[in-house]
Amino acid sequence: VTNDPTSATVQLPSARLLDDKLEWRDTIKYALKKNLQVWCWISNARWELGQIHTISRDYVDILLSNGNVHSVSRESILPANPHILDGVDNLIQLSYLNEPAALHNIKYRYANGFIYTKAGPVLVAVNPFKEVPLYGRDYVIAYKQKLKDSPHIFAIADTAFNEMMRDKKFELALLDEPFCVMSHSGESGAGKTETTKFAMQYLADVGGGGSIEDEVLQTNSILEAFGNAKTSRNDNSSRFGKLIEIHFSAAGKICGAKIQTCKKLCLFAASHFMFYISTDFFSSLILQTLMHASLTRKGTPTKSRVVQRETGERSYHVFYQLCAGASRGLKEELNLKAAYKYEYLKQSDCLTIDNVDDAKRFHVLMEALDVIKISKEDQKNVFSMLAAVLWLGNIAFSVIDNENHVKVILGEGVTNAARLMGCEVPNLMLSLSTRKIQAGNDSIVQKLTLQQAINTRDALAKSIYCNLFDWLVGQINKSLGVGKCCTGRSISILDIFGFESFNEYAQDGIDWAKVEFLDNADCLNLLEKKPLGVISLLDEESTFPKATDMTFANKLKQHFAGNHCFKGERGGAFRISHYAGEVLYNSSGFLEKNRDTLHADLVQLLLSCACQLPQSFANNILQPEKELSRFRQSSSFDLQKQSVVAKFKGQLFKLMQRLESTTPHFIRCIKPNSKQLPSMYEHDLVLQQLRCCGVLEVVRISRSGYPTRMTHQLFAERYGFLLLQTSSSQDALSLSVAILQQFNVPPEMYRIAVLEDARNRILQGIVWVQKNFR
Ligand code: ATP
Ligand code: MG
Repeated sequence: VTNDPTSATVQLPSARLLDDKLEWRDTIKYALKKNLQVWCWISNARWELGQIHTISRDYVDILLSNGNVHSVSRESILPANPHILDGVDNLIQLSYLNEPAALHNIKYRYANGFIYTKAGPVLVAVNPFKEVPLYGRDYVIAYKQKLKDSPHIFAIADTAFNEMMRDKKFELALLDEPFCVMSHSGESGAGKTETTKFAMQYLADVGGGGSIEDEVLQTNSILEAFGNAKTSRNDNSSRFGKLIEIHFSAAGKICGAKIQTCKKLCLFAASHFMFYISTDFFSSLILQTLMHASLTRKGTPTKSRVVQRETGERSYHVFYQLCAGASRGLKEELNLKAAYKYEYLKQSDCLTIDNVDDAKRFHVLMEALDVIKISKEDQKNVFSMLAAVLWLGNIAFSVIDNENHVKVILGEGVTNAARLMGCEVPNLMLSLSTRKIQAGNDSIVQKLTLQQAINTRDALAKSIYCNLFDWLVGQINKSLGVGKCCTGRSISILDIFGFESFNEYAQDGIDWAKVEFLDNADCLNLLEKKPLGVISLLDEESTFPKATDMTFANKLKQHFAGNHCFKGERGGAFRISHYAGEVLYNSSGFLEKNRDTLHADLVQLLLSCACQLPQSFANNILQPEKELSRFRQSSSFDLQKQSVVAKFKGQLFKLMQRLESTTPHFIRCIKPNSKQLPSMYEHDLVLQQLRCCGVLEVVRISRSGYPTRMTHQLFAERYGFLLLQTSSSQDALSLSVAILQQFNVPPEMYRIAVLEDARNRILQGIVWVQKNFR
């Protein structure tokens, strides 16, 4: 809007209150009459920018960049913003907020080296896939001193820090994971973990000065070594979610930290949680995101990765780092071989990562363990457990009868594994090839078939690794303990999957009517309903010993044939229609993932180990105490442990509780191409991510939430010239009201707020303006 309506820079009429499309037609005619250029987006396989040449009743002739003129219906074009708006910092500033406009803006900025853009309250971060000079000390200082205000993760971290110092507690949530449906799976490698680290770096700098910030930063090396792996999508893919809480002293210095993790065990699990909050659309969207990301994520989930994964992917970094970087002494102690000698590592045909030196990373890991004050003895125990897992994978079986029963082959696999775990070789051999089962009052020993024995061996390896990870997180938390400095000042960073929050406007005393959302209830019902929802059926089926993934899939078909969110089942794969689109789920492995139990014989084996770690793992598995006593009374029963779904639900519930008590900031990481290459922008991939993670929705919502705030003064200056009659009163508030009244601006389009001091003197007056008011 400008005060001079005749200026040639005014490409579009100002103060438009009508629907974009309708008013735009008038704009086109007006502009063409004045010989002004009018740009538009035309949907031509993908969005293309064109210039309107002529316009008739139904058709528009568009001049394309290749010189061709294309005739299209008036309905199929969308307005483009004037070039002066190219590359605005915040999508909210766009006059026309449509999909191609948002996409163009993000692309324009990315091409010019601006990887960050605001989309309303959300920070969109496009992965540069190369080192960019945006994170040096100079940048930290510039944001700290408010010399820069362009969108940046440092700006978000700075706001969080200042809010926390003012309000005691503030949270920063790192959103992910642009998940998309269609044929792609959830986009991994968008840059969530890197962005988290930059946020931590900033906070360590502004809250530095103590001794502990280095420890807090070092946790990343440890968690990544044990929790990340190379996948086909990301060389450093996180296989767990984490919430890191950084605590500050009253003076704003870091004084401790706490980490909570949430493993990607089974994607389905997340949806269980929806039960609690299914009334809230956005919460359920988060959960659907979580669920979708876990289930469709290519590659195997956390625990299974230890024993099995797709070709070209690796197990957890730490295994390769240990094999490459252990000192000669340590290698001898663990009888460690090169990575290619281990079945668990060599099976996926991928032992190294380009440009990554595993041996060097091992030294970084050991330093980090030192910084976190894990004793040398404990470090050795940790490495022993890793080596034990590797040796377990080398244990082979030989078939002893025509029923395919097996015995363990006595070789270096079983002897090394037993030695490293601190158990007797015959005990280990027996636990891997037989199972005690209860028959009436007697317990009988059943021989295992080859497949059962392999499953048992792998379950043991997975369980040891998983417990080791939890133990390490526990040690880190002990070391960074916040007990002594509990001031209540903390900032948490969530590196997992995302969600939105609507609480912000309430703070300003503006009555906030919720924007309409898609009704998600049917899909939630399909997943959650008891006793007949997908999750309940999965839980039920998991308890039947004879059930298989196929019987589960068949049950789904039987029960949900008429449900419009259930889009059919074929060959074990079924489709569910989610908020963002249809998802194809392959039920293979669902039951096993959901059962996730370690047979009592193996728990007993761990308990009998002379080494301290396996013992503590067993106790961990046997929590709570009640279960422990039941186990001792009748050790031959399969313990009725929590299913994965139930466990995951609990973890998530805790996480959500923490998050709900705070005001989050959001960062959406976008992956610009699937090749992990710099300067490459795959238009469709970005579009899918923006669509599916609801970026445009967020902008739309924040616009409808009175995003533009002007002081009465500014509002009067800016629009006062439109007044037909000079107002008798000259104060800014009266002028603002007069302007709004003259144009019959509907009351729902704006709010007028007045902040007064104790003596009713106006401190600041703000006009809040609705979405289409420009
Ligand atoms: P996943 O869901 O698989 O854990 P992610 O979203 O956490 O994926 P990251 O591991 O953070 O993805 O990023 C993948 C890679 O992209 C990084 O290893 C790094 O090479 C690159 N990258 C991400 N963000 C940046 C950045 N801001 N600057 C430079 N490189 C980056
Ligand atoms: Mg990650």
